[in-house]
Amino acid sequence: MKRQMSEHWFSIQLKPVGNMCNLRCKYCYARPHTSAEVIMSYDVLEQVIKKTLQQDYLYPTFSWHGGEPTLIGYDFFYQAMLLIEKYKRPNQVVRNLIQTNATRITPQLAELFKKYNFIVSVSLDGPEHIHGINRVTGESNNSFSQVMDGIKILRQYGIEPSVICTVSRETLPFAAEVFNFLISQGFKKIKYSPVFDSTRDEFSITSDEWFGYLKTVFYEWFKVGDATIQILDLNEVIAWLLKRSINLCSCNRTCLHWVSIDPKGEIYPCEYLREQYYYGNITQMELRDVYYTSSYQEFKKIYETVPPKCQHCEFFKVCGNGCPVTRVRDGKISLDGVYAFCEQRRELFYEIEKVFKSVLGENYIEEKEIKEKEAFVHAVISNVEEETENMKHDDWRALLHNWKKC
Ligand code: SF4
Ligand code: SF4
Ligand code: SF4
Repeated sequence: MKRQMSEHWFSIQLKPVGNMCNLRCKYCYARPHTSAEVIMSYDVLEQVIKKTLQQDYLYPTFSWHGGEPTLIGYDFFYQAMLLIEKYKRPNQVVRNLIQTNATRITPQLAELFKKYNFIVSVSLDGPEHIHGINRVTGESNNSFSQVMDGIKILRQYGIEPSVICTVSRETLPFAAEVFNFLISQGFKKIKYSPVFDSTRDEFSITSDEWFGYLKTVFYEWFKVGDATIQILDLNEVIAWLLKRSINLCSCNRTCLHWVSIDPKGEIYPCEYLREQYYYGNITQMELRDVYYTSSYQEFKKIYETVPPKCQHCEFFKVCGNGCPVTRVRDGKISLDGVYAFCEQRRELFYEIEKVFKSVLGENYIEEKEIKEKEAFVHAVISNVEEETENMKHDDWRALLHNWKKC
């Protein structure tokens, strides 16, 4: 009997060099960066690609991550693309995404990424004086110019990267400046990534600060009124206003649709759950066997438990109780708790709803501005409508699997 392909996407986060990186960002979660780490062998790579493409998913996505994945070099990526061509099944639409610090982008790599339609996201924290606060080289130099050089090369080869911008304690006061810098540089897709990490307290921000930051970004974006700019963190709010759901990692209970694979082939649900849930090794199992492991079943059970607070919440369809590693129960991090930023997230939703309603309703400032803002809000709404329609194979969303990671 002919097997049906699932229309859902399935995303593999591949870490070919593990946590190895050429930079030494001060808030980095990925430690150690040492060159002594194992890098992925060709054999492991082949197993990952072959076993992923054997699954009945129409839209498999490889999300290349690190550390800094480009450290593995051009040949590895070239071999990976040949393997994908070899094992890809008819009708499968394979997508590749990469999260990079952009400092090691070469013309050769950019050409390859362009040829294979990579979706590229670069890590950039803002203008030089803000970026350099944390994102430094091994010699503690600001990595800004190297990053901008990498972005220039990508653009020379026709790749328009999106941006992941990390927000830490020191960069918190610069929400407006960072946003305006990023749009002045022509970035159209921006994802902010807050540092919430109890082990790096000096860099961490509180949930109030985080949502305060997002509010500032929202008002700056609103002021600019350009709907071609997408702020991924705000799309969830707009999706809620439209009574839709959105596949953001940390929003819509999508953790069960992807796995992370390290250089040795070890499989985990996510970098953050590495300690708790180990599924096995790709060299010794089929990828579909992951679903039958006791670890997966245990994770699924706990993940799908909906706490009473969320059961009747109007935001549940879009929030889904947030990222499990940021849930709290009885004052402690616990996967079966409630999303730690629940109240702030709700507040942001209500605030943006209020603004949108006032624009689309009556009594909004002056007539000329009403027209402009109306057009902006309508365009934003139609963008999110379109995205949520295409959600099943929206590979950009899979990038959010990587939120906070770089
Ligand atoms: S945050 Fe990313 S780019 Fe910076 S040191 Fe860590 S892995 Fe490297
Ligand atoms: S970061 Fe959180 S929401 Fe995203 S995959 Fe990991 S555990 Fe799931
Ligand atoms: S975490 Fe809060 S906002 Fe999210 S679904 Fe639960 S109650 Fe609603």
